[in-house]
Amino acid sequence: MDLSSWIFILVMSAGCGIACMVIARAKGYRGTAILGWLAAGMIFSIFGLIAVILTSHGLAAAPGAGAYAACPHCGAPLPPRASRCTQCGVEAR
Ligand SMILES: [Zn+2]
Repeated sequence: MDLSSWIFILVMSAGCGIACMVIARAKGYRGTAILGWLAAGMIFSIFGLIAVILTSHGLAAAPGAGAYAACPHCGAPLPPRASRCTQCGVEAR
């Protein structure tokens, strides 16, 4: 292979690694797990990218994700469209 092919592979793996990292972060991964996905994306290229898209780690549990809010009064988890807290009855929003 010539130099331009190597550069293409290098850019592809770096791009996939960064894309993996961004998607993993959006899915709720934090800390070393992010770097793990970066490495996976760089090593496995497009396959690492597919893996991170298919995974669903911490999407519902991550605070501030929008799917699951917490009561401002008692901190109990609220169902997605609840107007009042199920624990203490305080208006949620
Ligand atoms: Zn409450």
